[in-house]
Amino acid sequence: MLTDEYVKRVYAQVEQRDGDQEEFLQAVREVFETIEPVFKDHPQYEASGVLERLVEPERVVKFRVPWVDDEGHVQVNRGYRVQFNSAIGPYKGGLRFHPTVTEAVIKFLGFEQIFKNSLTGLPMGGGKGGSDFNPKGRSDAEVMRFCQSFMTELQRHIGQFTDVPAGDINVGAREIGYLFGQYKRLRNEFSGVLTGKGLEFGGSLTRTEATGYGLCYYTQEALRVLRHDSFKGKTVVVSGSGNVAIFAIEKATQLGAKVITASDSNGYVVDPNGIDLEVLKDIKLNKRGRVSEYAERVPSATYHEGCRGVWSVKCDIALPCATQNEINGNEAQMLIDNGCTVVCEGSNMPSTPEAIEVYKSNNVLYGPAKAANAGGVAVSGLEMSQNSIRLGWTFDEVDARLKGIMESIVANSLAAAKKYGHEGDLMQGANIAGFIKVADAMVAQGII
Ligand code: NDP
Repeated sequence: MLTDEYVKRVYAQVEQRDGDQEEFLQAVREVFETIEPVFKDHPQYEASGVLERLVEPERVVKFRVPWVDDEGHVQVNRGYRVQFNSAIGPYKGGLRFHPTVTEAVIKFLGFEQIFKNSLTGLPMGGGKGGSDFNPKGRSDAEVMRFCQSFMTELQRHIGQFTDVPAGDINVGAREIGYLFGQYKRLRNEFSGVLTGKGLEFGGSLTRTEATGYGLCYYTQEALRVLRHDSFKGKTVVVSGSGNVAIFAIEKATQLGAKVITASDSNGYVVDPNGIDLEVLKDIKLNKRGRVSEYAERVPSATYHEGCRGVWSVKCDIALPCATQNEINGNEAQMLIDNGCTVVCEGSNMPSTPEAIEVYKSNNVLYGPAKAANAGGVAVSGLEMSQNSIRLGWTFDEVDARLKGIMESIVANSLAAAKKYGHEGDLMQGANIAGFIKVADAMVAQGII
């Protein structure tokens, strides 16, 4: 419940203006509920309208993306780029291609990104973009034509010092390659305008692994500090089987856990022997196949229709890595009833507000997305640094920096939580620590 008068007033304005943008409202409410304690000590935030300005993107670009499919038919999708906040650096955030993409989804992701980027300690503002384009079942040539059309408009709005997009759902190395190629061709400029690039043209080692690895470094550190525990010997449930999920499974396994599930939007597999990553990577990364094929290839595994059932599998640690609102209150309760004591989020906003309430009332170690999955954008920030100095660091160098960043996110979140009277609360701490840096920069730069 909101109690601070200023916070309540601004939230009411958001409800009135953007009441139809459900996911955006959910993200704003979650942040507002947790940052209330800072306003007593910082009257300057209200005086300079920080919250009113924070909830209004600096710019929203919405555009037509026309392209021709392999049968010669014209297709039209919608493209978006939300440039949310540039107080601490150029806008930075991924592009998502998925039929569920709407302005509300991109706004929630862009809003979250502001605080996430701030938490990394790197100079990056918040942005997000994408399209309702569905690449499933499309040929490489169709994906290329779509990406070229998308970038033909997007290039007007981005640049290495303005806005630097990256990947997200269904935007991986292939799509970033096509997008980068079109940007370079239209602008006649080779610059670090996108991250997640191929290693041959300015990409950073460890970027592919960064979100999943970072999630596990974060979880390991939070377990160490708060529970004097680790991944060793734990049973882990992971949802998803994309970029974040695969490398979360890899790192959790390296850290001594047994990961027994993977899923996609159709269903999930359980492998009591631990997911065989060679097989999963071959299916998802080489063949762009479905998770059900895993059970056809691995005799110890079983496939179950319906992706939400994955939360009924007994585990010690849950790492959601698929999409938003993938765990509701009942599913959270099911996890806890089955002995789960740790939930750290690889996907953005995977837990509904009811699920978060269940974690809180059951003393679950809860690592919120904007902290736990910040490793991806952190290494994107390191890719920007490498592009600027025209040098490439080794895998181990970037990996060590990533680990250091994730450990400081845990430390900074816990310090902020303690300072504002919520010791041990990683969610409250992350929101407060991420917010204060941005708010101070906004105050210093005047009313813009
Ligand atoms: P991918 O496209 O690589 O994988 C997405 C996975 O989630 C797939 O297994 C997909 O299954 C599943 N999925 C997508 N939508 C749904 C849905 N509506 N219901 C059930 N399952 C679904 O994306 P990423 O791994 O990159 O992203 C996963 C999450 O992590 C997203 O929330 C993203 O915002 C977040 N994230 C990603 C970062 C990155 O660096 N890539 C950084 C920080 C956060 P299917 O194949 O059936 O669609």
